[in-house]
Amino acid sequence: MEETARRPLFDLFAGLKGKIPHVVLGALPSPVERYSELEEALGCKSMALYIKRDDYSGRPYGGNKVRKLEFLLADALRKGCMEVLTFGGVGSNHALATGIYAQHVGLKSISMLMPQPNAHSVRANLLMSFKTGIELHHSPSMATTAGHAAWQMCRHKCRTGKFPYVIPPGGTAPLGVVGFVNAALELKQQIQEDVLPVPDILYVASGTMGTAVGLLLGLKAAQLPTKLVAVRVTDARFSSVEKAEKLFTATNRLLHHACPDFPLVPFPPEDFIFEHRFYGQAYGLYTDEAMKGVRLLKETCGIRLEGTYTGKTFAALMAAAISGQLFRKTVVFWNTYNSYDFTEEIKDIDYRNLPAPFHRYFEEEVQPLDRLEHHT
Ligand SMILES: *Cc1c(COP(=O)(O)O)cnc(C)c1O
Repeated sequence: MEETARRPLFDLFAGLKGKIPHVVLGALPSPVERYSELEEALGCKSMALYIKRDDYSGRPYGGNKVRKLEFLLADALRKGCMEVLTFGGVGSNHALATGIYAQHVGLKSISMLMPQPNAHSVRANLLMSFKTGIELHHSPSMATTAGHAAWQMCRHKCRTGKFPYVIPPGGTAPLGVVGFVNAALELKQQIQEDVLPVPDILYVASGTMGTAVGLLLGLKAAQLPTKLVAVRVTDARFSSVEKAEKLFTATNRLLHHACPDFPLVPFPPEDFIFEHRFYGQAYGLYTDEAMKGVRLLKETCGIRLEGTYTGKTFAALMAAAISGQLFRKTVVFWNTYNSYDFTEEIKDIDYRNLPAPFHRYFEEEVQPLDRLEHHT
């Protein structure tokens, strides 16, 4: 694996090299751009609005997961595993990203997928997962998943002699979260290079919380005063301030123990704003506000968001801008959704080649708020 690309985490804390497993997968740093047309559209011209384009974080598949996978897949390789097993909703971006990048480093992947509301993006991800050669399993509920996964672990161990490396949902284990500590240090570097001023506030989606928590730790380790708004898009059982704090501390300890130069920083409750109001009814179920956000970004700057994560997050930013809370603030919207189009690659795939439990996502309608969207 090429070890050529540099990561600010290893430049700043050289003692981490060799201690924290890492493999280059992403195309980093991802760009940051200012969008005056959005500032205007939101009626908030005094605000400076920047977008961190993590939608271009990696080729062929961008979004937030590649940053975590640089560390998780390196760990799988170091442990001599030949396969990885992970979890997600049926339309999981995480499971797809894992399959794509696992293949890059010569690993096979297995996805344990659970039901979620239907959408065009769910169909597209299923077809792309199939095309990538991911072994797909459907698990009817959260309760049955552990059992199914254990069975698959044993089955694969029998076949290959080695258990698959398990990656938790969203890649959110301390080692994966390290990817976003690096991301915050990358942002700091871009600030030092005058790509953007020091942000007052940063908006990011919070699913399994790894992205938000890694950014928060990185911002504080870099001594940036930026406040982080984590917009909750999953059930409150899976994301809470308590969970954030635990993950923050575990990731911080991992880095500090690997290299004592990496500071131990207290969890900063005053800089972590956990925003609950834009979740709606369920994970993956779109809201009117989220779809307004999706349309606005598409129309004003040609950026494609979706309704599960980024639409809800942008809705939170929009509401704050409109109510005047972002007056004279420098704001960063962290785009976590992949922007590389793979429509061409999946257009000839017949969904009936997928395991039967997934067929209904192609035979039943998509959720009402996704029906107007033409893209897949
Ligand atoms: C997975 C995902 C997230 C959530 O990231 P977490 O680290 O799980 O909180 C946000 N946006 C998109 C597009 C994702 O696929």
